[in-house]
Amino acid sequence: MEYREIQVKGILNTVPGEDEWFGLKYNLNLYRGCEHQCIYCDTRGACYQIENFNKEVLVKVNALELLEDALPRKRKAGIIGFGSMNDPYTPAELVYGLTGKALEIVARHHFPVHIITKSDLVLKDLEILKEINTVKARVSFSLTTVDDGLAARLEPGAPSPSRRLGAMEKLAAEGIETGAVMMPVLPFLEDTPENILSVVEAAAAHGAEYIIPAFGVSVREGQREYFYRQLDAHFPGIRQQYEQAFGWQYQCPARNQEELTRLFYDACQKLGLRTRVYPYPENPETQQLSLF
Ligand code: SF4
Repeated sequence: MEYREIQVKGILNTVPGEDEWFGLKYNLNLYRGCEHQCIYCDTRGACYQIENFNKEVLVKVNALELLEDALPRKRKAGIIGFGSMNDPYTPAELVYGLTGKALEIVARHHFPVHIITKSDLVLKDLEILKEINTVKARVSFSLTTVDDGLAARLEPGAPSPSRRLGAMEKLAAEGIETGAVMMPVLPFLEDTPENILSVVEAAAAHGAEYIIPAFGVSVREGQREYFYRQLDAHFPGIRQQYEQAFGWQYQCPARNQEELTRLFYDACQKLGLRTRVYPYPENPETQQLSLF
């Protein structure tokens, strides 16, 4: 993977309306492109116009000065999300350290954060996250299977689920709110009761406080072609099942969605896991325990 340094005009975006999924008020992407190279990645969609997604990562080298300038002018406190269009903790972070340095700026300006990642590299920033946690730090790990072998084929550049769970446990032990983002649950590959239960149980056993689910995958033009080629390469016969079941649909729901959904919510309730995150500032008493 090649790194190309670029200059950008803005870095901190305001999330429109209420973000019911992740509770974000702002988000930022310090890199463009992602070395984790998940075969289902939505960012390959033609609408995002990211060329060479499979070959290069663009590094926003002026991002920190833009952030330093933008934060004091934000009047509304709100959670800053890291990791919507790329993972903030890929190997590029070991070279450039933009995520860690951005967190230091965020800490100085007393904003809360929600990091979404597939990497245990987040632990390198544990001390700064603890400092941010005097306001609010939340770390979600993307986790749709606990089968390291399956994950290696689906998310070839990302650390294994075992490593993510290990990092989750460490963050929880340090008092940082952590949980899982269980999406996308891929039809024909991950949409079984056994898989859903194993993710829920593993997350609960490693200190998760919540799991945010999505039972299915969305497939856009541009993303579909790559995804199907990888299905052919690693999961013979599965592409044909997608084509038969979904045609050119954007939304590809999990099989037995109702059954899986109920099983998921029952298991979460039993294990004391929330299925949503609290907005900021928190008021747990007004929050539902689950979507039912
Ligand atoms: S970690 Fe996220 S952004 Fe990166 S390739 Fe995977 S799905 Fe895409």
